[in-house]
Amino acid sequence: MLSDKLVKELNEQIKYEKYSENLYLAMAAYCADEDLDGFANFFKVQAEEEKFHAMKFFDYIIEMNGRTLVSAIDQPDNNYDSVLDAFEKSYKHEQFVTKRIYYLMDLAMEEKEHATISFLKWFIDEQMEEESTFNGLIKKIKRVENDGHAMNMIDTELAQRVFTPPTTTTQ
Ligand code: MG
Repeated sequence: MLSDKLVKELNEQIKYEKYSENLYLAMAAYCADEDLDGFANFFKVQAEEEKFHAMKFFDYIIEMNGRTLVSAIDQPDNNYDSVLDAFEKSYKHEQFVTKRIYYLMDLAMEEKEHATISFLKWFIDEQMEEESTFNGLIKKIKRVENDGHAMNMIDTELAQRVFTPPTTTTQ
């Protein structure tokens, strides 16, 4: 049985994951408008991943006999100065999400809520990957930002990204 506080904070996380989904959709739309379809694809796939994260929390609360609640989501920024700007904002956002996951983990540990600790471990690994992906791409883009040909090559590379839902179950 989850505590009321944990249920509240896990529900709050659904909101952040859904916000992430919308943020990356806004970035996908910006990239598409800049005729960078590969970058747009990258962000669309990222949005799918965030939706998947939100659903993991959604299902977990129900599985644990808590009450899942759907709330309003803040509007994401639709305006970016450049692709690099979008990636730098993504990276910053992922660092914020990592802090949120750590906060949830601290709560679960305080309450000795072992099922939730186990559930959150997946997200800790996932956040490490997200940060590393964005950080890597920022470095790559910075190196070639003013080289149209090299940017097109990254665009082509990112066009290959597909969403593959992890095969793990909720836990
Ligand atoms: Mg996420």
